[in-house]
Amino acid sequence: MLGCCQTRRSEMSSESVKTFSSLETPGYVGFANLPNQVHRKSVKKGFEFTLMVVGESGLGKSTLVDSLFLTDLYSERVIPDAVEKAKQTVKLDASTVEIEERGVKLRLTVVDTPGYGDAIDNHDSFRAIIQYIDDQFERYLRDESGLNRRNIVDNRIHCCFYFISPFGHSLKPLDIEFMKQLHNKVNIVPVIAKADCLTKKEVLRLKKKIMEEIEANGIKIYPLPDCDSDEDDDYKEQVRQLKEAVPFAVCGANTLLEVKGRKVRGRQYPWGVIEVENPEHCDFIKLRTMLITHMQDLQEVTQEVHYENYRSERLAKGAPKKPLVSIICLKFRGLSQLPLTMGQKLKSRGSQG
Ligand code: GDP
Repeated sequence: MLGCCQTRRSEMSSESVKTFSSLETPGYVGFANLPNQVHRKSVKKGFEFTLMVVGESGLGKSTLVDSLFLTDLYSERVIPDAVEKAKQTVKLDASTVEIEERGVKLRLTVVDTPGYGDAIDNHDSFRAIIQYIDDQFERYLRDESGLNRRNIVDNRIHCCFYFISPFGHSLKPLDIEFMKQLHNKVNIVPVIAKADCLTKKEVLRLKKKIMEEIEANGIKIYPLPDCDSDEDDDYKEQVRQLKEAVPFAVCGANTLLEVKGRKVRGRQYPWGVIEVENPEHCDFIKLRTMLITHMQDLQEVTQEVHYENYRSERLAKGAPKKPLVSIICLKFRGLSQLPLTMGQKLKSRGSQG
């Protein structure tokens, strides 16, 4: 009897040895598997992202968002007439969709800003937007200091597409004022709307002028992070092209057209078709690549730079209202020059700020 038990025990222990360690690969502890655990957990939990779109009405914001995520977020939208628009103040309108692609879930919230730039005096247009961004930070701060910190819904704005009209010669005073007021609170990505209205040469000229004005006015747009030296060449080239494309000149469309036997998303004109997803026609694909490949970074910058600033200001009640430096965040992001102001901090992450 005893002999039988002993045999079973020794069988079991040799089984468990097989299951829990790999005798064939001595020196292998197993922590190389950690990324897989993180991957599995994140996929199970899903991802959250909040995008804000700002710009005068009619610049194609809704069309672009629908084209970017292949959704129909604005099917019930009512467009006010000119009389209503004149009376209307800026409203904020958040719509959430859950998108799933190959088992990965993304809870995407798009915050639209109808009424922005529509009033006769647009001076106050950005007040409601600033308030909204601060309210989300405040909510997160409260949730974080509350009892149940496990299931916090993150509604902070991770990225703001700022739509610039293609019809002017550069930025308007309202554009400059908006970006100045918000660059310390949110990652701004400037976008030239309806780029199909411009020739290639005009797009390049407008891009150059916009970047000059952004620089001259000390506006800090979202700086795409520099690549690590061990990154592969294709990725480095992709990031270089993305940086070069800022401000992204885009066009949007929700109609599928047939071009040379292919179904493409595009806009049909008497002289031809603008293919939204053709990099020769506009920067739509570059904008989408930037957003998807930098989603994590946009969230990190929101957490470590913008939210930290808000949090520090809130905690140091009575302190002057200027951005405070988050030392932890700088260390984490591998920035060595301390102390920096937040402006310099953002700048040092990339060359576009
Ligand atoms: P929003 O008010 O900024 O959300 O603008 P909409 O997305 O509702 O678009 C306003 C109008 O512009 C609609 O008639 C769209 O079909 C048109 N539109 C949208 N995107 C583009 C574009 O990229 N190029 C051109 N030429 N027209 C566009």
